[in-house]
Amino acid sequence: MVLKTKDEYIERLKKMKKNVYIDGKKVGRLDERLMLGINVICTTFDLAQNPEFEDIFTATSHITGEKINRFCHIHQSKEDLLKKQEMVRQGVHYTYGCLGRCMGMDAMNALSVVTKLEDMKYGTGYYGRFIKYLKYWQENDIVGACAQTDAKGDRSKRPHDQADPDLYVHVVERKGDGIIVRGAKQSITIPPYSDEIVVLPTRAMREDDKDYAVAFAVPGDADGVKLVTRPAFLRKRQKLDAPIAHTGVSDSMIIFDNVFVPWERVFMCGEWELSRNLALLFALFHRHSYTGCKPAVSDILGGSSALVAECNGIERATHVREKLSKFIGLAELVYAAGVASAQFAKKSPSGTYVPDPVYANAGRRLAGENIYHEYDLLIDLAGGLAATLPPEGDFYSEETGNLVDKYMARNPKVSSEYVHRTFRLIENIACSGIAGWLQIAGMHGGGSPVMETIAIMTDYDIRGMKDVAKYLAGINKELPRIRHEDLVDYYIDID
Ligand SMILES: Cc1cc2nc3c(=O)[nH]c(=O)nc-3n(C[C@H](O)[C@H](O)[C@H](O)COP(=O)(O)OP(=O)(O)OC[C@H]3O[C@@H](n4cnc5c(N)ncnc54)[C@H](O)[C@@H]3O)c2cc1C
Repeated sequence: MVLKTKDEYIERLKKMKKNVYIDGKKVGRLDERLMLGINVICTTFDLAQNPEFEDIFTATSHITGEKINRFCHIHQSKEDLLKKQEMVRQGVHYTYGCLGRCMGMDAMNALSVVTKLEDMKYGTGYYGRFIKYLKYWQENDIVGACAQTDAKGDRSKRPHDQADPDLYVHVVERKGDGIIVRGAKQSITIPPYSDEIVVLPTRAMREDDKDYAVAFAVPGDADGVKLVTRPAFLRKRQKLDAPIAHTGVSDSMIIFDNVFVPWERVFMCGEWELSRNLALLFALFHRHSYTGCKPAVSDILGGSSALVAECNGIERATHVREKLSKFIGLAELVYAAGVASAQFAKKSPSGTYVPDPVYANAGRRLAGENIYHEYDLLIDLAGGLAATLPPEGDFYSEETGNLVDKYMARNPKVSSEYVHRTFRLIENIACSGIAGWLQIAGMHGGGSPVMETIAIMTDYDIRGMKDVAKYLAGINKELPRIRHEDLVDYYIDID
């Protein structure tokens, strides 16, 4: 059976070697602080097994014809991109924040395009190698992290100009059976509970940087890999259980301390001219995924705002409705950008459908620039209790329980527990370690807004809009005609 269960996934984690470090200590993969993130990944296995979600959480493999988890799928059509977007929005509603498996899926889609381009340009055999590796992913329902963001050192310098050559991951030796790599990737989500880590270049490389133009995959517990991890989790609940209390996330600095990678797991090694395509394509696939998850975050923040307004008895107030409309407008515009990006997708030479970069980047940037504004709206409506809610134990103690409940009463149509649950949710999403993580993830995850600006300006041929102005000004006589597809660069050519 190709679709694996969460229990099979957890069994795999149990068999991995110990290489996760938290706060100075080496810990097991099922450490309590990691379990909350593992729960989120488990949801992606459960939803694929659930007939109600089969149409979005599963797909048919284009290489084996088998039913697979969509997180292991390579997009074969515009429809696939739309379903991926829907899957992500739906999944985040159940787990809040980050489903964890998009990064691996997006890295594999980027590799499916670029390994083919490498073969076309250099006559290499990367694509066949990639397809073999993909088969292993699909057959085992693999959970993968994508490690793109390097330590990067001095931001004004290119990789080979850094004072320490290891500040970007690079090849230090080429051998008959593989390569040795060294360096570190930072801010990488889910490595401690990933089967595999897919490593991609973080930027376009020049010829001087060709040892940094490297892409490969290693098991999460490969020799020489150290996962220095920061888990983000919520305060434990004792009585008032709720789905949100079972979610969490972990990010790692991944240190590659002279790691050996066999050739069959190497997908770029020195082909610096295509490192730009690979870096930008992962970012593009990932920003398209963001047009699914960020609307879900807006749905959750907006839904919580509506809930607290109901508790406060002010749901119909004009300013409340206006605030709620902002969440709706934002969520649906970002989602619409993803839909447009899928509709204008182009088929790459390998057959993978690549979303339109301008729509995906514009959508992701809109979301990133507004995340703090959305929190502003929620907290405005929630009031101070979002930060000062008494700890859970006080609601259940003999001495204070009834009194605390009594003073939680607000709108008489809802119970004290309803109000307590609402504020506990808002505390979790707006005033906790996870809340801070979500805000920063909302701004920088998948690329800071400035990177989307750069991507938009690099891709968009502004001659089209200038021609319109020239026509209206009487500088040009011909009627301008803007075709969106003529204005953007998809990074799927070898020139
Ligand atoms: C929660 C979270 C999860 C993440 N998960 C992943 C993941 O799974 N995989 C992954 O690969 N990455 C991941 N990232 C990393 C993310 O992609 C980066 O944070 C993002 O690309 C920004 O890079 P940086 O953090 O190094 O910031 P920097 O690049 O240091 O940017 C900081 C500021 O410096 C500016 N700046 C940078 N370079 C220059 C320059 N040369 N000239 C002028 N200004 C400059 C930027 O514009 C920005 O304003 C994650 C990040 C977060 C926050």
